[in-house]
Amino acid sequence: MASEKMLLGPMALKLADRILTIVATATLTSAAWIVGGGSFMRYAEDQKAAETTEATAEAAKTETVDPTPKVITREEPKLDTAEVSQPKAGQTDQLVVPVLNVRREDLTDTFTNERGEGASLHEALDIVADEGTTVLAAGPGEVEKIFTSEAGGKTLYIRSPDRQTIHFYAHLDEYAEGLQEGQRVRRGQRLGTVGSTGNADDEAPHLHFAILRTSADAEWWEPATAINPYPLLSGNNQRP
Ligand SMILES: [Zn+2]
Repeated sequence: MASEKMLLGPMALKLADRILTIVATATLTSAAWIVGGGSFMRYAEDQKAAETTEATAEAAKTETVDPTPKVITREEPKLDTAEVSQPKAGQTDQLVVPVLNVRREDLTDTFTNERGEGASLHEALDIVADEGTTVLAAGPGEVEKIFTSEAGGKTLYIRSPDRQTIHFYAHLDEYAEGLQEGQRVRRGQRLGTVGSTGNADDEAPHLHFAILRTSADAEWWEPATAINPYPLLSGNNQRP
């Protein structure tokens, strides 16, 4: 009997340890999920705070006690490997430069520019143009969110027809008249105008354009994998 108890003791402890580890992991994962996400999150964070405080509190409440499979499942798209995050062949090769009269050869690759003293990368393309220049839809999709944030100013989130990609437009001066959430847009459709709203330099109006690989059920503000728009827009796919 004594020896059985000796055995049971450590085993029970191990089980308790495992449960603690699971809970701690779930909590950390959810914390990373909440605070993480790179530059994209900074644009969405105001809205996230505003719209999801309830949801996050609810999630945090349940996750700590019960790390549900649902939470783990939702993490999967964010653990994208480079391979997974690559757009399918032919899917993004027909994008147009989303600023009127900017030629492909005029683009500069600013995707890996460092932001915040190297803490993060830009992960988007800045397309410089005069204020008021027409911003066009790079590809077809649906206006998922029209949102003004501190960093991004007037922003637009356009979801691709297959729901796997979001095109993000920021620092707009104005939205196209009548533009609404839920509206379908075609490639080349006028979305608004170039500006310097948000944290853009007033002296250097530009369109901040990001392509985010996400998953069909992920919300517009959730962290997503940014892919470099430069090769897709410049046609320089063959270059390293
Ligand atoms: Zn930018």
